[in-house]
Parts: sequence; structure tokens; C-alpha cells
Amino acid sequence: MTGVSESSQQSSSLKDEGYIPGKHSYWVNTNMKSTEIQQLLNEYPLVKNLMELEEIFWFNPCNTTLKEGLSFVGLVADDVGDAEARLDRFAPYLCQAFPETAAMHGIIESEIVAIPAMRKTLEQHYGVDITGRILLKKDSHLPISGSIKARGGIYEVLTHAEKLALQAGWLSENDDYSKLFSEEFRQFFNQYSIAVGSTGNLGLSIGIVSARLGFNVSVHMSADAREWKKQKLRSHGVNVVEHELDYGVAVARGRKEAESDPNCFFIDDENSQTLFLGYSVAGGRVKAQFEQMNIVVDEDHPLFVYLPCGVGGGPGGVAFGLKLAFGDHVHCIFAEPTHSPSMLLGVYTGLHDNICVQDIGIDNITAADGLAVGRASGFVGRAMERLLDGFYTVQDQEMYNLLGLLDRDEGIRLEPSALVGMAGPARVSGNLDYLNNKNLSAEKMKQATHLVWATGGGMVPADEMTKYLATAKI
Ligand SMILES: *Cc1c(COP(=O)(O)O)cnc(C)c1O
Repeated sequence: MTGVSESSQQSSSLKDEGYIPGKHSYWVNTNMKSTEIQQLLNEYPLVKNLMELEEIFWFNPCNTTLKEGLSFVGLVADDVGDAEARLDRFAPYLCQAFPETAAMHGIIESEIVAIPAMRKTLEQHYGVDITGRILLKKDSHLPISGSIKARGGIYEVLTHAEKLALQAGWLSENDDYSKLFSEEFRQFFNQYSIAVGSTGNLGLSIGIVSARLGFNVSVHMSADAREWKKQKLRSHGVNVVEHELDYGVAVARGRKEAESDPNCFFIDDENSQTLFLGYSVAGGRVKAQFEQMNIVVDEDHPLFVYLPCGVGGGPGGVAFGLKLAFGDHVHCIFAEPTHSPSMLLGVYTGLHDNICVQDIGIDNITAADGLAVGRASGFVGRAMERLLDGFYTVQDQEMYNLLGLLDRDEGIRLEPSALVGMAGPARVSGNLDYLNNKNLSAEKMKQATHLVWATGGGMVPADEMTKYLATAKI
């Protein structure tokens, strides 16, 4: 155990501001005592591998059937149905306010594409036979904000706007919501403000939509947030507040700003069920897309989905939706950077948001800025731990390498965060313990579908992308 990370030292000033450790999960607390670490290591040996920043795969022994696990989520299929209906109501508004959504009639959804050349490359690259097909879910190219956050983030802003307008008697659910695209409504929403803390993409989604509706919006950006994301937000009239510390601190500051203003709504990336539901709608949409593509998912045709995980809401919500859509035939696996394995650490040790990666001496500094989260959402971890097959970690350089390979072989360009899922098919295919444990025979695996969730990158500026590509060693 060496040293206290910069953020933990500076976070003491936050404590001075009156934050209560353990009550919420937003900043680096103190590092654990060495005796506590030793105890943790005795009980949870993989913590050592995490501390040494090794790439690991952890198969989750607490994984249950959907039937057993569902009651722990605290949300049900009807909640997802409500979210779908709300997004349908807003579709006419989105068509007007964001013409790029008009082709899809105001529904924010991404394509699923085959990546056959990449598949061959992955087999060579990892020296593993990958059976079944590999598909890519291009949330990277979702309209409005070019990342998975165009699901949850936008949905939560729309939910809040609808609530305000309904309460004020300005709107009824049967109205054509395109009426929200008007000066009158912009004035109405301008009485209210929205705040959020983000590593970048959530801020981008929430900022752009909130500003278009007319809200005053502040986005608290963590130190790792990219400059171009801040500039883009400012160009949309968003108030960008820059913080020198990590994600947890940006969230804490946003929360604090909102507390002092009753007209300010804080979007809580760490605990929001609304965000989670916005993401979960993806499950039924994937099912419909698979039906159109004649892709079968059943006992003999398993589906594996590889989801990059930051705080957990995005992958957690998507996994929840997928479970409802495909039941026990979908196997959801979360992927994290070796420098930010917060969800793996929380679920594996059972400590959830009572532990952060800095507690065990990991710095939470990664090129995968969308995943640079030291402390995972306790809500998501506790809700979803039984419904996830496993977790694995990927080194930063490997993300760049996969980024370069995908560009070379398929001409698809993503941001580093979005590549952690790409290591998944080889990790699973090469893990016979896991496959045997889940009764996934070679026969079944031949008919498997591997869906790599590409979570972002569609809006990365060309010069930034050139730098990413130059970092790949391929
Ligand atoms: C936010 C984000 C994720 C993960 O979502 P969480 O809700 O933070 O777990 C993955 N990839 C990208 C590109 C993101 O921006």
C-alpha cells in the first residue's frame, strides 16, 4: 500500500464542508487501514489482483435465475413500460427539437451491426476460438449526444419536464408534445434549473436537452472530462462548472448546488431509478431488432452482452431491460478499466458503495473517461448483482489497441471507454470454468450471439480521434 491518492487528500476539505462519510457515495473517503486491507485480502483474494492492476475475469457465484433475482431490483416490467410510453409521448417533440431524430420518428435508438472482420482479428489477437456471431450495438452513434447517455440522461430530463408541465396544467398526457417546442414553453421551463455531475457524456446529454427545452442547466464536470465536451456544452448555452477532482466530487458539488435552490433539480447519476429506467428500454428494443434480423435467443442460442460500466446506471439499466426481454437466456457481463474497477470491487466484496477503488490504492485515472468512477452506485450494485454473470477488467492500452483494430477492420470509430466490451467474446470463449458452470456446451456456444455494447464515440472531434488512433499499437 503506497500513499494516499491526490483526491483522497483533497477530499478532506469536502468533509470540512459538512459531507458525512458513508451517507452518500460521492468522494474519496480515507484509505482503509492496512489491517482492514489485509482482512479484505484474506477474504477476497482477487482484491490483490485488482490492486496490481491486472486484467481479471470474475465469474459471479451469486448469479441466480431472473425469477429469483427480480424481486431485489425494486422495479418491474410495468415501470419499463411506463418509460417506453413516456418516450413515445415525447417523440413528436424530439422530432421538432432535434431534426436528426426525425428519420426514426423521434425515437432515440441505435443500429446493431455485424463485425465479421473484427471477429477474425479478435481470435488472432487473443489466440482464442470465438464461437457464435459477434454484433456491435452502436449507442456510440445515438442521435443528440453520441453515447449511451442519450438513453438515461435524456429520459430523466424529459420525465422532469413532463412532471412540471403537468403539475402547472400546461400539458396533459394526451396532448401532442410537439407543443413543447415553443417560446412559451421555453419561458415556462426557464423558471427552473437542472444540475448534474458528470465525467462528460451524461453532462452532454442532459445539458443539450435541458438547454433546448429552456431550462437553466449547470453541468459539473470532473477533471477527466474532455475539453471538447465542455466546449460543445457551452455552445448550447450550458453553464459548465469545472472541477479539478474526480467524478465523485463533481457529483457532490452538483448535489450541493441543487440543495440550496428549491427550483433546481439535481440528476443523481449514483442513485436515480429514473435514469436506470431510461436505459432499460433498450432491452425490448434489442429484442425487436433481433426479430427483424432473424436472430434467435433461447436455451440453445445463448446471448452474451458485454457492457462497459462506470457508475453502473447505464449498464445496469440496459441489463435489467435485457433480462426482462430475454430471461435467463441472456448473460450480462460488465467490463471496467483496470484503473477503475469500482463495480467489480463493490459487488465482489459485498461492500458496494461502502468501498471505492482509492481505498485499495487504485488511482481511478484512465483513458476511459466515461468509466472513470471510483465508487460505483450502491443502488445498481445491490439491485443487479444477482442478475449479472460476471465482470472483467481491461487495461487502457488494450482499449486503444481495440479502438485501432475496429477502425482498421470495420471503419467504426469509438471512444476508449466503448472498447472495454470488445474484449468480452474472447474472455468468455476462453473461460471453460465459466461456460461449464453455466451449462453452456460447445454445441450451444456455436449458436451463441455476442453483443458488444459500444457506448460512445460518435461525436469525438477528428483531431481527438487522430490522437486515439495514434496511441493504438496494432
Ligand atoms: C457513462 C458511460 C458508460 C457507463 O455508464 P455508467 O452509467 O456510468 O455505468 C460507458 N461508456 C461510456 C462511453 C459512457 O459515457
